[in-house]
Amino acid sequence: MAEPLLRVDNLVRRFGGILATDHVSLDVVRGELHAIIGPNGAGKTTLISQLTGHLAPHGGSIHLAGRDISRLPAFRRSALGLARSFQITSLLPDFTAADNVALAAQAHDGHSFRFFGNARKEPALRRAARAALERVGLGARADVLVSRLSHGEQRELELAVALATRPQLLLLDEPMAGLGITESARMVKLLSELRREVTIVLVEHDMEAVFALADRISVLVYGRVIASGVPAEIRGNDEVRRAYLGDQHVVTRRV
Ligand code: ATP
Repeated sequence: MAEPLLRVDNLVRRFGGILATDHVSLDVVRGELHAIIGPNGAGKTTLISQLTGHLAPHGGSIHLAGRDISRLPAFRRSALGLARSFQITSLLPDFTAADNVALAAQAHDGHSFRFFGNARKEPALRRAARAALERVGLGARADVLVSRLSHGEQRELELAVALATRPQLLLLDEPMAGLGITESARMVKLLSELRREVTIVLVEHDMEAVFALADRISVLVYGRVIASGVPAEIRGNDEVRRAYLGDQHVVTRRV
């Protein structure tokens, strides 16, 4: 089998007496959309934060494309092609959508934030920003202030910000959170397109979205991976049903 793009091996993270990541091992194959699901407090965000380098593991290792990145700081991982869709709170509300993406592209390319003034004018950055905005369907909203974008548009902008760094692995932490029915249907459509271009790890509570999008699903409960497999295997797994899915109907997606 080809080497996985991401290999997590025996990862451990504690918070005091809580084992938030309990010897987690998982592989993400290049080209797949790999969903991570589990109840509140299962350790999903903690895992993502260790992948990005924002939280140090207490044990285990993380390899990206065969390279051990376990001890690399976040900006080095970003330079290697790992991007996290940051929460809306990291967007700059008084700047336009295009400025936000241009800043992300500039920061990724190793320039200093001091030159942000230039980033807004620099033609190459403007073009990259426009392309990323077009990619998420926000082309016509490029010059609108973030504070004037709808919640759904801000989530799409987060994706554009992540895409501007040209990632090989995109980590998405609850991109559907807070979205209405129409907006989440748009997000599912967008992710179904993006998955053809970039490998995605998706943490999400919207099970209809997860089962519509995922090639494989790993289930975290109390920091442990209790199951990993294709959607049909997860849906049919008794332990997963007991621990998480219960009687949820996850076969069809509302649109
Ligand atoms: P949710 O679905 O609600 O977002 P999650 O699966 O992302 O939950 P985490 O937020 O990773 O779960 O939390 C895992 C466990 O670690 C929880 O018990 C949580 O209380 C604990 N935890 C997370 N971050 C911290 C922290 N900074 N300090 C102390 N405990 C923490």
